[in-house]
Amino acid sequence: MSSSRALSLEFFPPRDENARGKLTAAAKELEVLNPAYVSVTFGAGGSTREGTADAVDLLQKLGYEAAPHLSCIGASRAVLGDILQYYKDQGVRRLVALRGDLPSGMGMNKGELHYAVDLVRFIREQTGDWFHIEVAAYPEVHPQAKGAQADLNHFVEKVRAGADSAITQYFFNADAYYDFVDRAREKGVGVPIVPGIMPITNHNQLVRFSDMCGAEVPRWIRQRLSDYGDDLASIRAFGAEVVTRLCQDLLDQGAPGLHFYTLNNAGATLAIARRLT
Ligand code: FAD
Repeated sequence: MSSSRALSLEFFPPRDENARGKLTAAAKELEVLNPAYVSVTFGAGGSTREGTADAVDLLQKLGYEAAPHLSCIGASRAVLGDILQYYKDQGVRRLVALRGDLPSGMGMNKGELHYAVDLVRFIREQTGDWFHIEVAAYPEVHPQAKGAQADLNHFVEKVRAGADSAITQYFFNADAYYDFVDRAREKGVGVPIVPGIMPITNHNQLVRFSDMCGAEVPRWIRQRLSDYGDDLASIRAFGAEVVTRLCQDLLDQGAPGLHFYTLNNAGATLAIARRLT
């Protein structure tokens, strides 16, 4: 891939020693891609606060710039302030700031900051320009949004509140991304909007994730995956072909980079990134 395009990788915090070993191995294998940074997700309602911090530490020790995700839903200002101070002390310079989702049925209260824009403002109030702040964007519209226009307006508010760049929810329809970027630019948003890329490796998992987050898996892709049944090798080969084509198109049309949802697995991301020119 051309060196002018920034590539970034997303991991999730491992649950046990075995998973920690797998994350370490995947992160080492992915070094060849020379990513600008890697990020680590944050469990709903703060459930992985320590796990995220540990994974950030692990990745920093491997030589990566590591960016923790932080979500505000269910959290108090005091807790969020402590987390920000901790990361500042650890030399972290980049964060992915999110609202997050409350775990269903857990009956938790929403906390003091209700939307990601409130978290972006809070981070700027507490830490000035210390952190480079990434926020989420939804080319196919966030599932709880009142509408496409309202969702875009809320995205614009996050940028006006101080976000430096954005990472999108994954999508398989490049036109949704181009349309979103055009409309954001018309509203004066100048920050990079980096496509989030989900490699396809598992049919059921893809359908489950996509239903939850509102990403559309086009019918022809679902049909092809369904035809392959349990034939994982064919699913992976087809997935790599489809997603590589999507990534190449995005880069050719001027996307500022790509952010891979690696799911702590090097193979699928490498199979795509190595084929990009
Ligand atoms: P917001 O930008 O706050 O938007 C949430 C919804 O509220 C949208 O429908 C928006 O239109 C609406 N809205 C926004 N502001 C207002 C307002 N002022 N008034 C009324 N409505 C408003 N989840 C995790 O739990 N952990 C993670 O680590 C994580 N990482 C992610 C990384 C990326 C790149 C992406 C795209 C998503 C990630 N998520 C993560 C999922 C994310 O937390 C959910 O999609 C969540 O539902 C919304 O978070 P947000 O930051 O986009 O929220």
